Amino acid sequence: MNITAAVVREKEQPFGIEEVELDEPGADEVLVRIVGSGVCHTDLIVRDQWYPVPLPAVLGHEGSGIVERVGDGVTKVAPGDPVGLSYLSCGKCKNCLIGKPTYCLDFYNQNFAGARPDGTNAYHKDGEQVHGHFFAQSSFATYALATERNVVKVRGDVPIELVGPLGCGLQTGAGGVLNSLRPPAGSSIVVFGTGTVGMAAIMAARVCGCTTIIGVDVKPKRLELARELGATHTINAAETDSVEEIRRVTGGGADFSIETTASPQVFRQAVDCLEQLGVCGLIGAAALGTEASFDMNTILFGRTVRGIIEGDSIPDVFIPQLLELHVQGRFPFDRLVKFYALDEVNKAGEESESGEVFKPILRMG
Ligand code: ZN
Repeated sequence: MNITAAVVREKEQPFGIEEVELDEPGADEVLVRIVGSGVCHTDLIVRDQWYPVPLPAVLGHEGSGIVERVGDGVTKVAPGDPVGLSYLSCGKCKNCLIGKPTYCLDFYNQNFAGARPDGTNAYHKDGEQVHGHFFAQSSFATYALATERNVVKVRGDVPIELVGPLGCGLQTGAGGVLNSLRPPAGSSIVVFGTGTVGMAAIMAARVCGCTTIIGVDVKPKRLELARELGATHTINAAETDSVEEIRRVTGGGADFSIETTASPQVFRQAVDCLEQLGVCGLIGAAALGTEASFDMNTILFGRTVRGIIEGDSIPDVFIPQLLELHVQGRFPFDRLVKFYALDEVNKAGEESESGEVFKPILRMG
């Protein structure tokens, strides 16, 4: 079938809107009519080839929509079901088998190969190969070919075009708190960077009952929204020494911190601001080869630094939980969203990179 898609043809060049041919779903695949697709930092850094996904490629990995057709072997969903799409994992490696699919040993190949994990590809144009299957979805398009494993059936009473970002950016921030750090009620947490991921972490910290929730950023407008979404304190790092201020507010240091900016200097602050036994969750994705430094003694005194992928989320379990919190008014992520048409994808990317918009969602058709 023919689909309309945003295609990246060259490194650091804008997306172009093109017609692309898509094969019918294989046995374990699910064809989804995309209604909305979030635009995430990862799409933009892959466009810029920080990670070597082969080009030309259809990106997009926060898709949501309605199941159109399913392969012969699919039982999880049926045509007409509302679904959100998430990352793919192999389900067979050691880490998948122990229930940690965000650390799938084949994660890169499952999500960034520009092809199915077996190397085949359902996307082409005039006999030319187009690389699809990005996060087993390539959702910057009117239709996406997902797999039974990365589609999540969702409730019908939330606008389906909102659901896509739960499958990556929002589960990353919220899961980093609710699944990974699990702060007890009454504890303190600092969130460095109040973009979409950081805001999701702040909302989740409130759900956990953290009583000191500190948002750190350099943009006053973001800090204002952080306070509305649950931050008890905010620090403008352009004006204030954030580590000193965190020590003052918490009376010594924070119990938990989340680093979402991928800046080595900010990462260091996220460790230095901890109380002894404090835990820092690293979520920001830096360019390959980026190094950070610490005083070894800071870690020695019982502090922990851990990397967190996709908020340790099992999408089939966690996305419905986030939607329930949303319906209850406890995870108002719609406050972060601005909608664009598919052919406004470059504008959406620019407004996201400039910090003007938190979470752009492309609405198809
Ligand atoms: Zn695996």
